[in-house]
Amino acid sequence: MNLLLFDDLRVDDAGRLAVTGRQLRHLIGTLKPALGDSIRIGRIDGKLGTGVVVSLSSEKAILEVHLDREPPSAPALKLILALPRPKVLGRILQAVAALGIKELYLINSYRVEKSYWQTPRLRDEAIREALWLGLEQGCDTGMPRVYQHKLFRPFAEDQLPALAAGSLALVAHPLAAESCPRRPGQAITLAIGPEGGFIHYEINKLAEAGFSPVTLGPRILRVETALPFLLGRLCP
Ligand code: SAM
Repeated sequence: MNLLLFDDLRVDDAGRLAVTGRQLRHLIGTLKPALGDSIRIGRIDGKLGTGVVVSLSSEKAILEVHLDREPPSAPALKLILALPRPKVLGRILQAVAALGIKELYLINSYRVEKSYWQTPRLRDEAIREALWLGLEQGCDTGMPRVYQHKLFRPFAEDQLPALAAGSLALVAHPLAAESCPRRPGQAITLAIGPEGGFIHYEINKLAEAGFSPVTLGPRILRVETALPFLLGRLCP
């Protein structure tokens, strides 16, 4: 937790923030502040700043809130991701938030197992919790929006063209003939496939919606490795 992220429910009328639970454990166990020390804090979907510790016990810490800085700017990139295995999903959601991505479309694909869509990790509160941890890691406050599309074809035919309009639309595909561009300097819509990769039909549907297949080279990367690699290569 590099940033103590909070929402207004935790702030009293005097503008003091109450810290309990996981965040308090981290505060006491890792940051070990003394009274008067400042902690890096941020209001969800708001500004960054510092919280001055004015009281501290094993039950609760109270911080005086001072917010004065904007969060980092977001990369101009929308991410379309074939739904990963539940265990990987939590890590990917954290990475998405930590990397500053603000729009994520989780989609079906032939090689996504149907059972993945039943995972409790796709519930709103579980998604929010994973994103929250990612924002705390990346010192950002802007909660990403996550959309779920359980049918590939209607999504590809009816929504993708509008979603990708005005951007450079790319699908990461190890077998592509073209190399992934470096910092193309325009907004990007990026599609990443499932563990088994997109099938030909899906690559063709993505191409019909304006997506160009691009490769990172012959090494096949896990989704959680491919994502930061692609982002670092595409976004300044
Ligand atoms: N067996 C799959 C294949 O050969 O396509 C590998 C899928 S890989 C584990 C999961 C996703 O990560 C891919 O669908 C692609 O979007 C992305 N990816 C992984 N390695 C890549 C590479 N070298 N170039 C482009 N994309 C890659």
